[in-house]
Amino acid sequence: MTVSVRVEEEYQELKNTTLEIAKSYSSSLYQANQSSEIITELLDEKIRLASQAIMLIEDKEDNQALQSISETFQIDQINLFSPAGEILYSTNEEQLGWKVYDDHPVNAFMTSGKTILIEEVRRDTEDGRLYKFGYAKNPDGSVVQLGILAENIQAILADFELSNLVNKIADRDDVQDVFFINNSYEIVSSNLNEMIGRNVEESELRTELAENRIEINRVQLSSGNYYRIAVPIFSENEKIGSLLLRWPTDKIVRAVTQIVLFGVGIFFIAILITGGILFYAYRKSKANIKIAYYDELTGLPNSKYLMDHLEDILGRTHKRKKAIFLLNFVRFDNFNMTYGYSYGNQILKKIVARIERNLEADEKIFRFDGDRFVIVFNDYQDQAALDARADQLLKLFEEPVLIGLEKQYLELQVAIVELARSHVSTDKLLQDATLAISHMKHHPTLKKIIFNDMMADNLKRQDQIVKALRKVISGKETAGFYLMFQPKLDLATNTIVGFEALARLKVAGLGNVPPDEFIAIAENELLIFDLGMTILQQACQFIQKLQQIGYANISVAVNISGHQLLREDFITKIKDCMCGHQDCKTLLEFEITESVLFDHYEQVNDILGEVKKMGIKTSLDDFGTGFSSYSRLEELQIENVKIDKLFIDKIIEVDEKHLILSDIISMSHKMGLQVIAEGVESEEQVVYLRKHHCDMIQGYHLSRPLFDDQALDFLRGFNKDKETN
Ligand code: C2E
Ligand code: MG
Ligand code: MG
Repeated sequence: MTVSVRVEEEYQELKNTTLEIAKSYSSSLYQANQSSEIITELLDEKIRLASQAIMLIEDKEDNQALQSISETFQIDQINLFSPAGEILYSTNEEQLGWKVYDDHPVNAFMTSGKTILIEEVRRDTEDGRLYKFGYAKNPDGSVVQLGILAENIQAILADFELSNLVNKIADRDDVQDVFFINNSYEIVSSNLNEMIGRNVEESELRTELAENRIEINRVQLSSGNYYRIAVPIFSENEKIGSLLLRWPTDKIVRAVTQIVLFGVGIFFIAILITGGILFYAYRKSKANIKIAYYDELTGLPNSKYLMDHLEDILGRTHKRKKAIFLLNFVRFDNFNMTYGYSYGNQILKKIVARIERNLEADEKIFRFDGDRFVIVFNDYQDQAALDARADQLLKLFEEPVLIGLEKQYLELQVAIVELARSHVSTDKLLQDATLAISHMKHHPTLKKIIFNDMMADNLKRQDQIVKALRKVISGKETAGFYLMFQPKLDLATNTIVGFEALARLKVAGLGNVPPDEFIAIAENELLIFDLGMTILQQACQFIQKLQQIGYANISVAVNISGHQLLREDFITKIKDCMCGHQDCKTLLEFEITESVLFDHYEQVNDILGEVKKMGIKTSLDDFGTGFSSYSRLEELQIENVKIDKLFIDKIIEVDEKHLILSDIISMSHKMGLQVIAEGVESEEQVVYLRKHHCDMIQGYHLSRPLFDDQALDFLRGFNKDKETN
């Protein structure tokens, strides 16, 4: 008797409370029109309702009761804190007796004026795993804390799928069948597939549904005896339908026992929550909206989530500074292409695990797309702090990832964007981040970069240059692209012996673009092969002009980029080009830089061997700034070294006895190489170079690079002068 009265009292009270909760709950469902918003709300709501439910239970000071609640609501962690901040009861016995400390998030909640709080996902200070936590405060100051493991959130979200939901309730020991019935008495979902779409015909049940009576009724069906209960589900004060549950009579004893033990409230709240969700899911699945908030592969929130999250951040004003990192793994596609997608996926998972282990509390990571991730920073000190954080992330990937026994090295780039007032939209923010990444593409040595507005201008400039280069290559633009020629003087004979061809590009709106800049762009955009051919053609035309005015022995050196040289068909292309200019061959020279020798020494040397066979001489340009191993230089198939301006400048800057330039010259001579000094600007330098038997000089002292006609005039004047001398 006592038990039954007690149940009745509890039942009435809880019925009212739960209906209230259900009302506000389903109305929030109804108002939200974005599935994404609803999912986040559902999760928050779940924690909120569960914490309220716990408040309703007298028996909560019982670890076993908490355990049962945690199972009912699929909540991974429940702790009950005394007003003094000590864990008195917990689903994890090891936590008992733990006390909060000053700057702990639980303490922040306890000392705040709030009665309920749902946090963003954060790392638990004790077990180090990521949770979404919620808190509710009792009037006496004690606090319930509930946590859902981030890794389980995805599973919970999957539960929101209609069929999963229905089956989940039907899976309960105490429930046999589940139906969601709309106001027209149509069964819109059920674990009994054959019932979906049918109408409720039984008049007694129809009345029960219409009157919103919550009663447990005994019914006799051909398949056996059942108890059933119908719970109305409201949204915005409007009834949207009822959830009807059925279980066989022989199970009722157990069900009632459970209800008495753990509180009628939990059971009903659980039903009301699922009812609301069920209706929502029904509508959404009808509208064919896939709940896609998390990335299936990595379990991370996906780009849709990211967009919403950023929109949320941008929509509010903040005291704390916010920033995002866009992480890009360079050439990640190579893994997919070489080893297949599932291998690439394994690497992605390792990447995520490595980053997640190292995330700080106020950082949130998203999978943006493919091999790109975004980390959102909720709070940071200044740019230096972001820069340091980027370094830490880069350091994480200095070590390879292990896939089976295989080590794979990854190359990470970090683009940093600080949220500024100009970020009116999520789009702009992500656009800036992508722009910063593409900026790094043009500066391959950069590993991290903080976005600034100049980058956008830069990119525009690059775009204009690319377009101009394409026009040059296709022959549509001829005036804006030409060669200038800088003479080379032989110090022994004091005559001009050759010219270096230097490419020039003029772009409308930009003026003269420095060759270092457009050559690098041509390389990145893979335009250098065709551009190189145009340059070669123009150089040959200049040689022909020289010959036409009677200079049959003046050489013309053309700079060849490493990309060009390493291309398979380089030699064939040169041979093809030479067919039209047979007489040019012996006067043509190539200049290659040392950097290309670093990784491809053997290959480059083979190619240079072929070049030599064709009768074309090669100079090693910018000598002394890179590779410079004399042992290998000896084997290299070249004829000249061009000593970099850096060393030539030292003639003036450094005391003669400390200069190693004379040694470089004599060493090169010993190897049978001719020496050209570049960037010679003063007479003092010429005197030194003469004294130490440098073969040739080139530089402003002799002449700046000249237009072709000017170059011919210069040559006529200079070599004639010498003849008359
Ligand atoms: P580089 O091959 O080392 O060319 C020498 C650079 O030094 C030229 O700059 C030239 O104008 C400059 N220079 C010559 N004498 C002096 C001097 O006395 N003082 C100073 N301060 N500079 C001097 P430019 O024309 O701007 O070319 C820069 C670089 O661009 C070249 O370095 C070369 O690496 C590249 N480049 C130029 N034309 C071509 C080309 O047709 N193809 C390829 N692949 N690269 C080219
Ligand atoms: Mg050069
Ligand atoms: Mg040079």
